[in-house]
Amino acid sequence: MSSLSAEDRYRNFIPDESRQYLEKMFAGFKRNVAIEIYTKEGLHNEYNEFSLKLCRALNVMSDKIELREFAMDSEEGRERKIIASPTILIAPDKYDIRFLGAPAGEEGRALVEALNLASKGEEGISESAMEILGKLKGNRLVKIFSSPSCPYCPGQAINAFKAAVGRPDKVSAWCISTLDNENMARQYNVGSVPHTDINDTATFKGLEPEDQFMIQLLYMKPLKEIMEENRKEPEQQEEKEYEDVDLVIIGGGPAGMSAGIYAKRSGLSCVILEKQGVGGQVALTPKVENYPGFTHIQGFELVEILGAHAREYTRINQFVEVRDIKAGERFEIATDDTVYRAKGILLATGVNVRMLGVPGEDKFYGHGVSYCATCDGNFYRGGKAVVVGGGNTALTDALHLKHLGVETTIIHRRDRFRAEKVLQDSVEREGIKVIWNSEVTEIIGDKQVESVRVKNNEDGSETTLDTDVVFVAIGHTANTSLAQKLGVELREDGFIKVDAGQRTSVERVYAAGDVTGGVRQIIIATGQGAAAALTAFDDFARTFSEEKKMPVNIW
Ligand code: NAP
Repeated sequence: MSSLSAEDRYRNFIPDESRQYLEKMFAGFKRNVAIEIYTKEGLHNEYNEFSLKLCRALNVMSDKIELREFAMDSEEGRERKIIASPTILIAPDKYDIRFLGAPAGEEGRALVEALNLASKGEEGISESAMEILGKLKGNRLVKIFSSPSCPYCPGQAINAFKAAVGRPDKVSAWCISTLDNENMARQYNVGSVPHTDINDTATFKGLEPEDQFMIQLLYMKPLKEIMEENRKEPEQQEEKEYEDVDLVIIGGGPAGMSAGIYAKRSGLSCVILEKQGVGGQVALTPKVENYPGFTHIQGFELVEILGAHAREYTRINQFVEVRDIKAGERFEIATDDTVYRAKGILLATGVNVRMLGVPGEDKFYGHGVSYCATCDGNFYRGGKAVVVGGGNTALTDALHLKHLGVETTIIHRRDRFRAEKVLQDSVEREGIKVIWNSEVTEIIGDKQVESVRVKNNEDGSETTLDTDVVFVAIGHTANTSLAQKLGVELREDGFIKVDAGQRTSVERVYAAGDVTGGVRQIIIATGQGAAAALTAFDDFARTFSEEKKMPVNIW
């Protein structure tokens, strides 16, 4: 017989390192949080058992976490309208936050965050999110479909939990594990995770920045559509306001936010314009482990910290798109409402995932076209996958898929990989098939992907290859349309060319962060943003000094 008490056995269910971290977190809880778990004997027993052990472990780790266990078909279960076993409810007397299915792997992170949010209440929700949520009139049931291996899923689930905590009278947030709720995933046509459904009416794919999520929750439409609808007609544009500012920073990622802090501290007036929510790629990064000062932090959390810090110094205008930009003695940067007249511009416009740009890619996104093998690989166990690309991402994806039991073929446009040798060796060792010197020219199917057309670059011949899914892993492209409008010189690979002070080829136009290429890391982006702001300060001081006697009425 084991000498361990039941309590110790439950506690030991969580690995040492995580337990220490969690115990510390729970000790800081402001309010007690209740967990209710509902199970049905014979329905997903393995998942029930896992979930019960997890909940009991959380319960014994902290006296601030209460646990109630019920059968799914008990009176309580009927009252709470439980439809799946296992189901875990978080602080059910206050909120409708629930997990359908066992919260394993990455979903466990979402569960811990749900507890954390429930203990903080409204204090855990940002001002901007509360402002948007305040406008909500109708009820919203948000279903986030996730998987244990999807690093992006907790971020999207947390967006929904925040909405449920911010507006408990209106918002229900359910995190549904696709692993043990296959039928529901099928019913909702889930082909990639995170998959968000609101009121069975609106569907969104992928992880979204917090404010974007909240706005879409409010309007139940994609942000792009909302912005298009709110776009002013040309006749209204005459009413635009003019605003004079030293530096306009375009892009609210780490580079832009850091530049805002440094610009203001140097004495420059500035504004950050961000067409989406702040954070850039970091907001979509599940876990950051290499930003000095934080041993590990979730991307969206880091964004919140950076955003709050930057806002202490400067305005950040989110969901504001630059419609036009003109160079001159003073640059003119036009948005829908305002024309900013600035001494200089910092382009911190970042990058986007590179798309193949072939027929079928858009149509089948979420239905057999994916940009995240870690998230969506599970859906294709026992099936066939094509991975396009020859870099580290493509090879890492192919290995991951192979280990999941997916028959994987890499299609690469050249005769050698760009990826690290160690990954190339693993691909060879695992016997993953590679089609060299070839490109995917079309993605074919009816409702789901069925095959791809492949062109051999050497002899021009075309073949068709059957597949259930195409994972596109061909790198990123720099967002340089505004840079090009200003005549800024680009490098051969399409990124903006800068000098050591982040100056571009156009006087008083600077660039920082991922859009400048090279080593794309958060620390580099924040450093470049700071450097750009300081360079701008120096340049402006010289250009606009008293001695130059600039016309005073220029503004
Ligand atoms: P990447 O290194 O830029 O590689 C992109 C790959 O896609 C290249 O092989 C490229 O072919 C191919 N490609 C580009 N455009 C294409 C197109 N239109 N059609 C077909 N193929 C195309 O991008 P990545 O692999 O995403 O890596 C990005 C960064 O993240 C790198 O710094 C990488 O080291 C890092 N990363 C590291 C790891 C790791 O350490 N395990 C994992 C993932 C990513 P060519 O080779 O012919 O140019």
